[in-house]
Amino acid sequence: MRIDVLTLFPEMFEGVLGSSILGKALEKKLVDIRTVNFREFAFNKHNTVDDYPFGGGGGMVLKPEPIFRAVEHVTADDQGERRPRVILMCPQGETFTQRKAEELAREERLIFICGHYEGYDERIREHLVTDELSIGDYVLTGGELPAMVVIDSVVRLLPGVLGNEQSAVTDSFSTGLLEYPHYTRPAQFRDWTVPDVLLSGHHENIAKWRREQSLLRTLRRRPDLLEQAELTEKERQWLKEMAESPESK
Ligand code: SAM
Repeated sequence: MRIDVLTLFPEMFEGVLGSSILGKALEKKLVDIRTVNFREFAFNKHNTVDDYPFGGGGGMVLKPEPIFRAVEHVTADDQGERRPRVILMCPQGETFTQRKAEELAREERLIFICGHYEGYDERIREHLVTDELSIGDYVLTGGELPAMVVIDSVVRLLPGVLGNEQSAVTDSFSTGLLEYPHYTRPAQFRDWTVPDVLLSGHHENIAKWRREQSLLRTLRRRPDLLEQAELTEKERQWLKEMAESPESK
């Protein structure tokens, strides 16, 4: 996968892209991530990328020309048949989810546009982008952190990036549920012990316990997820009983 990030602050990406799992993925060439400062695509000698809004009002608006030219530049040599996804980071976009991360991880080419200031010229939205993504109902100063959030969650799904492929499969949301609790050594820490079943070595019982914990945790923390989750009739019935039991309140 190749990812281009259009930003006015490429230096913000250095730490994130150079560290941990993302850094290793780049080193192993499992993904190619390039940052492009779209100020370099400004027309005038002052490299202006923003201007006052028509109609008045506060804040500066990102001009269309530098952003269109930067996208045209990074796609100039594209030979693939599929048009790259051009993703505008903005609080008004579709809320980013694990499903969307899975969808984007199937693409070969992603382009992110990080905004700043008051917003973008609307023609960028209308004529350049394929997706608008928000990372939640709050407003940040720029699209860099949101783009990093999306890139991190997409890249970790690419083959070979995680040491243990299985961990992404059982992660919260991948299954439609929240993940079960984890424990590690020591088996007893202070007065707190690990559930016996996890020490039993009985794989079937462990899998059953984990599934139940996952269901219970989702019921208590995110019951909204249960509507879309793939559940057996028996599990639905069990959840109904758990929801009605005073213990789960
Ligand atoms: N005036 C805009 C509005 O009300 O929708 C907010 C602009 S915000 C201050 C500046 C930039 O930060 C946005 O253009 C976007 O790139 C980014 N941004 C802020 N919050 C975001 C969020 N929740 N998700 C994705 N991007 C966000």
